[in-house]
Amino acid sequence: MEHKRTINFGPGPAKLPQSVLLQAQKELMDYSGTGISVLEMSHRSSDFSKIMSTTQDHLRGLLNIPDNYKVLFLQGGGCGQFSGVPLNLLGLKEDKCADYIVTGMWSGKAAKEAEKYGKVNIVHPKLDSYTKIPDPSSWTLNPSASYVYYCSNETVDGVEFDFTPETNGVVLVSDMSSNFLSRPVDVSKFGLIYAGAQKNVGCAGVTVVIVREDLLGHALKVCPNILDYKVQAGMNSLYNTPPSFSIYIMGLVLEWIKDNGGTAAVETLNKQKASLIYDIIDASNGFYTCPVEMACRSRMNIPFRLNNKDEALEKQFLDGASKRGMISLKGHRSVGGIRASLYNAVTLEDTEALASYMKEFLSEHQ
Ligand SMILES: *Cc1c(COP(=O)(O)O)cnc(C)c1O
Repeated sequence: MEHKRTINFGPGPAKLPQSVLLQAQKELMDYSGTGISVLEMSHRSSDFSKIMSTTQDHLRGLLNIPDNYKVLFLQGGGCGQFSGVPLNLLGLKEDKCADYIVTGMWSGKAAKEAEKYGKVNIVHPKLDSYTKIPDPSSWTLNPSASYVYYCSNETVDGVEFDFTPETNGVVLVSDMSSNFLSRPVDVSKFGLIYAGAQKNVGCAGVTVVIVREDLLGHALKVCPNILDYKVQAGMNSLYNTPPSFSIYIMGLVLEWIKDNGGTAAVETLNKQKASLIYDIIDASNGFYTCPVEMACRSRMNIPFRLNNKDEALEKQFLDGASKRGMISLKGHRSVGGIRASLYNAVTLEDTEALASYMKEFLSEHQ
């Protein structure tokens, strides 16, 4: 049964597939004949163990995760990993320093957090605005860095890497919170990938960490156990109570991605959705403008301004959208304007509704 629902372009927490919500609803009172809800279930029960292992299996299948990688389901969100990464990995080398590529708000925050624990080298001159990825030939990478860090998709700024940085053998770490499973990724190129679930693969509460086994066991002494990858890996993410319901929801979303053809099929659709919006921006003779350079425009988060940053008109645009049942299109307060987030669960029809509204608004106001 299709429910008439608000079209949610939120940046996170974000839209979930309708089939996932319906299944969660169906199973809420009685999970698989247990007579209880997943919400009430012991995290050490066999039913929950099964949920954990199926969820991990789906993830391993969807991303072809090699056997020498651990998959962890942690708490603390993406921001928790801003600390978790340096606490666990700075100790890989004696100098305890790390290289950061800072292309937006989130990688900026991550670099700042890492400074609490070691030396941080920003590999390129500071950017005036987050609208591009500095050319890799201009990066100064430190060969004795413990790791190189970047954010594959800057959710606020709309800057996405279309390539994997080359690090000359230094461990590569990526925050993939906002484009996780939106496209295929070669996990073997990374030492560590992490992603909060609430953008593309579920609801808030669980953060996926995929980490190569040989990187475990180097945590700084001050690293809290709940953030220590070795401790968590050794206990199958059950050092303490895991975010059980969030893991269950993520499992349902992963199954949905699988049923929809996996990451390659999802990527094709995501390209199509993003093009719909960018094409309108580009054909609008400057009425709509996206500040981000073409080569690194995000498929997931599209920031744009109206009529030379006309804030009154932007407000009118948002009001009109909300009258049509389209919400959460307001840009992040640090950049202003509009932002359309087109995560996996946002359908082509949802995107078409926004596209046709943008065209109509353009013809009325140009
Ligand atoms: C949302 C987001 C974060 C922060 O996630 P929290 O779960 O709120 O801590 C970090 N990085 C990226 C890229 C994000 O999109």
